[in-house]
Amino acid sequence: MTSSRPIIGVLGIQGDIEKHLAALERLGADGRRVLAPKHLEGLAGLILPGGESTTISKGLVRHQLVKPIQEFAEAGGAVLGTCAGAILLSRESRNHPVPTLGLVDVEAERNAYGTQTDSFVAPADPDSASGFADLQCVFIRAPRLHAAGPDVEILARVDGAPVLVRQRNRFACTFHPELTDDPRVHAALLEAADA
Ligand code: GLN
Repeated sequence: MTSSRPIIGVLGIQGDIEKHLAALERLGADGRRVLAPKHLEGLAGLILPGGESTTISKGLVRHQLVKPIQEFAEAGGAVLGTCAGAILLSRESRNHPVPTLGLVDVEAERNAYGTQTDSFVAPADPDSASGFADLQCVFIRAPRLHAAGPDVEILARVDGAPVLVRQRNRFACTFHPELTDDPRVHAALLEAADA
């Protein structure tokens, strides 16, 4: 750990921005809303919150953030995308496709759990990667991740389906870790940001 507190950006277009900032604060990191390329300067990591991926995708273009975020990740910045954020990180999306950033080698199927179970809470499977078993996962009109490439590590599954994956410094999470008190997903981002 460096002595100064890491600064983690939270994309400020839409979603649970305050709750992500609070989760970061609880872990001893400083949060910063990101709404312009200059806000990425000096960040150790970046969170793309959940919300509506179509809206956020348009916001990324409007705020001229597409290329700067891709460059931030390529330069080693840690990135966590939750729910809609995971869709935006994926290599491509299906079921009303949106333009994505192509930073995690998975395909995201939007709203994959159907209307019956638009929202639900489920524990991660017990055989999830060490440290993530029994994580309580809150799903809200969540996507499913398919066809993970060889560089993608599956950190947690629910009912066998990947819900938290990692590719180098990038995490795609199909649930909402900011809605529970469990710090593990944000802590994983901070650890990657510090590496
Ligand atoms: N259903 C949303 C989408 O496809 C994601 C929902 C969420 O982020 N909670 O963009």
